[in-house]
Amino acid sequence: MGRRRKQKVQKRVRKTLPKVFTCPECGKVTITIEIHKDKKIAYLKCGNCKLEAKIEANYLSEPVDIYGDFLDKYYEEYA
Ligand SMILES: [Zn+2]
Repeated sequence: MGRRRKQKVQKRVRKTLPKVFTCPECGKVTITIEIHKDKKIAYLKCGNCKLEAKIEANYLSEPVDIYGDFLDKYYEEYA
């Protein structure tokens, strides 16, 4: 595996971190993220098209980080 690309396209809004994200599959803002820091895992789920993913997490993981990892993985798999 190569190194992780750091790519921050989104603008960060400081006071409110987003809780829902855009689904790469259906294009709707319906991705919710559940982080289980004790299990070091995060689950992503689209409320619209039922796309699901499991992403490795750690103690510092924020939903936006998980989402970034998820997008990397998604585009690697489907590109
Ligand atoms: Zn979707």
